[in-house]
Amino acid sequence: MTASRPLQFTAHGWGEASESFADTQSEALRRIHDWGFRSSEPYQVVKVVDADVAGLCGYYDEIERRRSGLGFSIDGIVLKVDRLSWQGRLGFVSRSPRWAVAWKFPPERAVTVVEDIQCQVGRTGKITPVAHLKPITVGGVMVRRATLHNSDEIERKGIRIGDTVVIQRAGDVIPQVVEALPAQRPETSAVYRFPERCPVCGSRVAREAGEADSYCTGGLICSAQVVERLKHFASRKTPVDIFTLEARDGHQLPPLCEWEGWGEKSARNLFEAIQRARVISLDRFIYALGIRQVGAATARLLARHYRSLAHWRTCMEASQDRSSDAYVDLFSINGIGARMADDLLQFIAEPHNQEVLDGLTAATTEQLPLVTVHDYERLSNASPIFGKTVVFTGTLSSMSRSEAKSQAEALGANVAGAVSRKTDYVVAGPGAGSKEKRARELGLIVLSEQQWLELIGGGQ
Ligand SMILES: [Zn+2]
Repeated sequence: MTASRPLQFTAHGWGEASESFADTQSEALRRIHDWGFRSSEPYQVVKVVDADVAGLCGYYDEIERRRSGLGFSIDGIVLKVDRLSWQGRLGFVSRSPRWAVAWKFPPERAVTVVEDIQCQVGRTGKITPVAHLKPITVGGVMVRRATLHNSDEIERKGIRIGDTVVIQRAGDVIPQVVEALPAQRPETSAVYRFPERCPVCGSRVAREAGEADSYCTGGLICSAQVVERLKHFASRKTPVDIFTLEARDGHQLPPLCEWEGWGEKSARNLFEAIQRARVISLDRFIYALGIRQVGAATARLLARHYRSLAHWRTCMEASQDRSSDAYVDLFSINGIGARMADDLLQFIAEPHNQEVLDGLTAATTEQLPLVTVHDYERLSNASPIFGKTVVFTGTLSSMSRSEAKSQAEALGANVAGAVSRKTDYVVAGPGAGSKEKRARELGLIVLSEQQWLELIGGGQ
């Protein structure tokens, strides 16, 4: 069946390469094409001088004009930095490159008929009216439903069952009704009346003054809401409660060992396991907070950078001021992007999260070293500078100071601002002054930028 389909392989990039085969993205595509592969087309190299992006705009317009004749569907263009060495320096934030950005075309629109309006009940009880449409293809996808958001939206757009409407979809977003076309409205149509009863449980529908959304008042009796309500109820407990469990045991309820299915031994095992969990490395602590976008790898970056929980919290609080040095410092960590930083700082700013952090700080003890044992081994085998203290001074030619710093930290080194007896390496570029002098007085190892790059293995 697959063989009968006209499948094609198109190369638009590459993964690992044993050796460098191009200096630029465009040269790489040309070579891939010369080797006989079908490569991603069309593309164009546009020179941007003095931030003049007119050339990029022109190409965007051109592709939008040619869009329907390309033979495949696209939703926009992607702008990439052509020079591969710059791509390398810009690097990635999580899985998205800093050297490429998508520029989408405006959403595609189509005209169809609203055959019905039905209300869905969400897990919070929110009631969302949904337009059931005469099926139509928009941007290559068959659309049968579109959200109408709430009763205000229906009223504002004057949408009735039977109306001819304009719909649009952008990317993966749920299709929306843009407007109704009243000229094509059937004579028999009537204004849509929002339900007064929940379509799932029949409870009264309420809408608070000043709110756009309507809610089912059924609560736990509404099957649409049960899961979310139970989750909310259970989540009133915070992680801190786990660590105070033993101290509270037997106070309000009978002791755990007397509960059905529990005995002395199982209760003791649980309390001992909780005791052991009090000792945790900083990266696992940060990861366990469940901050959006902060996975295990990011937690390690943060732990390695900030080293202690107290220091991390102090810096996160200082970073709430976006013009602070602390914010610049957070942003300079390779692998931390703007959105991730936002989520992190929002989490820290929430008073209830601060309460949990305060509680947990009292309940846990930081374990040194801050990287996990597994990580320590991996890095210490692979990195010649793991655990070393490095000071950069003077001008570097192949990278900026903050890049050098994050690169060294990524390899497990501790980057210090001042030279001391504890310093292992001083990397001195042109213009290095007192720090280099002090390093030589102390008999420390002073490296040139080139020697440094050789030490760490020629860069990344
Ligand atoms: Zn209900």
